[in-house]
Amino acid sequence: KPMENRITDIGPPHYAQFFPPVIKKNYGKWKSHEIVQPGVIKYTSETGDVVYAVRVGCARLITTDLVREVCEIADKYCDGYVRWTTRNNIEFHVTDEEKLRALLDDLKGRKFPNGSYKFPVGGTGASVTNIVHTQGWVHCHTPAIDASGVVKAVMDELFDYFGSHKLPAQVRIALACCLNMCGAVHCSDIAILGIHRKPPLVEDDRLEHVCEIPLVVAACPLGAIKPATVEIEGKKKKTVRVNVDRCMFCGNCYTMCPAMPLADGEGDGIAILVGGKISNRISPPKFSKLVIPYIPNEPPRWPTTVKWVKKILETYAQHARKYERLGEWAERIGWERFFELCEIPFTEKSIDDYRLAYDTYRTSLHFKF
Ligand code: SF4
Ligand code: SF4
Repeated sequence: KPMENRITDIGPPHYAQFFPPVIKKNYGKWKSHEIVQPGVIKYTSETGDVVYAVRVGCARLITTDLVREVCEIADKYCDGYVRWTTRNNIEFHVTDEEKLRALLDDLKGRKFPNGSYKFPVGGTGASVTNIVHTQGWVHCHTPAIDASGVVKAVMDELFDYFGSHKLPAQVRIALACCLNMCGAVHCSDIAILGIHRKPPLVEDDRLEHVCEIPLVVAACPLGAIKPATVEIEGKKKKTVRVNVDRCMFCGNCYTMCPAMPLADGEGDGIAILVGGKISNRISPPKFSKLVIPYIPNEPPRWPTTVKWVKKILETYAQHARKYERLGEWAERIGWERFFELCEIPFTEKSIDDYRLAYDTYRTSLHFKF
């Protein structure tokens, strides 16, 4: 077909065209909202209209069968409208209490063959919100860890905190499978971060055939790569050399050049960061801070990672004041006490997090460790 007049590269359609009628009608007129029970938020408009948003935890990667089932539910209760949040929750919107009750009963009755809930309702208020996460081994090329697998293992253990309001405040957990962090680990209460610990392996014999060397050199944020020539079986080959002392194992070069892999069974694993948030309620937004520098990859259930996430969460739940986010609690009691209470071994790697962020950990002589 001729390509003339074909509009391309126009980005996603404007979101307003997907609004349910009640949202369109009341846009900009919402007066208040309240959480009526875990997972259900009631929005009231100045026009008197009411909307109940029912939040349902969902996985990031789901089957078409499950999508069909979600659409069937949306057709039945929500006039065919449904939305997904950035944290992989499904949100159903209904406009009266009768429909709300019917929807909640219906969702509760839908289970997987193993008896677990297909559509768990929760993730609001003082709960653990659904984990926002990246792609992991399933899709991306630079992950140090899996994403969906770790999230599933962690959320199975924390499920009770998703559908209840037992915590002092909301706890946002995030996972990114490499430090390029297309997840939100830099600003989450508890962050699970995949880390590489070894520099890329340079495959001299094939590099010049699969990579553009100037591009690879330019791709390194630390200027650690320089062009080189080697001799293999009497033939000169163009390749690169990595200044290992400069490398931060980010994998950017591998993005540009498949002959520089850095995934490694022993080098790769998980770091845990805590105390970040984007909200400015009570205290300003904060970056997450490194507390556990390395946990080995332990598929399929990542028991050590699950253990530490649970330990940090439950220690916070036991000691923090109402409404205090995890980072606010740690700052109030002091980071030394945080490490003690959570029984996390303190290492020199935990002292600083971001360059020039001097006010995050104690960097003075008064730091007690
Ligand atoms: Fe890929 Fe890194 Fe994003 Fe994971 S965090 S999906 S490895 S860019
Ligand atoms: Fe540079 Fe990152 Fe590649 Fe290391 S892993 S050489 S820092 S691009």
